[in-house]
Amino acid sequence: MPRTLITGGAGFLGSHLCDRFIDEGHEVICMDNLITGDTKNIEHLFDLGQDRFRFVKYDVTDYLHVNGDLDYVLHFASPAAPDDYLRLPIQTLKVGALGTHKALGLAKAKDARFLLASTSEVYGDPLVHPQPEDYWGNVNPIGERGVYDEAKRFAEALAMAYNRYHGVETRIVRIFNTYGPRMRVDDGRALPTFMSQALRDDPLTVYGDGSQTRAFCYVDDLVEGIYRLLLSDETDPVNIGNPDEITIKEFAEEIIEITGSDSPITYEELPKDDPQVRQPDISKARDVLGWHPKVDRREGLRRTLDYFRETIDAPAPSET
Ligand code: UDP
Repeated sequence: MPRTLITGGAGFLGSHLCDRFIDEGHEVICMDNLITGDTKNIEHLFDLGQDRFRFVKYDVTDYLHVNGDLDYVLHFASPAAPDDYLRLPIQTLKVGALGTHKALGLAKAKDARFLLASTSEVYGDPLVHPQPEDYWGNVNPIGERGVYDEAKRFAEALAMAYNRYHGVETRIVRIFNTYGPRMRVDDGRALPTFMSQALRDDPLTVYGDGSQTRAFCYVDDLVEGIYRLLLSDETDPVNIGNPDEITIKEFAEEIIEITGSDSPITYEELPKDDPQVRQPDISKARDVLGWHPKVDRREGLRRTLDYFRETIDAPAPSET
């Protein structure tokens, strides 16, 4: 049975990866310090028993040790929502730099294949549109988002150095906006914010004039792309995302329609260095991995809405 470590495994993406690797017959060790992750996302796996799934509460910026062999190390630990990394700037830099170093060192010691969760943020506020992997980006290193963008750029450089210098098998996925069940309701990102506002009939807070664009990928499609990349021979970064681009204003309107809400839209100040456009060029993922997204946005939003309905209806712990 392959043995796989997933750092950040209790987070939104990490927990879906835990599910997928369990389904593929792996033994999964999930490591998370729970600063943005939540054991709620993985508690359904605890019944499998320790020989299939184990959770370790740990900060991967510290020295990393795992007993026994490992075949794969997936490094997903990091705050990833803008509100989180603006609130946790030093931890974000540390987990991208020190945490990636520890995870790569562990992969080297275990002769395991390593996969880095990188991000479309390495392209910054892009001057090339859509963004292909060979675009080097337009990042403000000292801007507020620099803590995330530069940490991930450093992490990519470190992974490539371990590949070239130590011969570690490395894979780099550049993840574009992704959504689905288990996103934190209060993580400040557009989708959870709009959906919870719409379900409560509160105004939807669109930042700026809402003309900035994003392209949203349903989580199951992303996980499929990551799984294919891990098993492929591709060492250079690969974009995984859904190229179906939409303005944030249109996105807010779509969520109002799908939820059947009466909410109006209000406009608030645009955050600093908020990218004006973002859309993945997925030609490489199509060619190299034979991958493309299958779930269209309306279908994905409906599936996500079911989760948000349940989560928002649940009484807060203090009220029970
Ligand atoms: N956004 C918004 N209202 C919100 C939250 C986000 O208009 O309540 C905008 C944000 O400014 C950005 C886009 O939605 O232009 C996507 O933001 P998100 O935080 O989801 O992720 P990002 O793509 O910026 O990393």
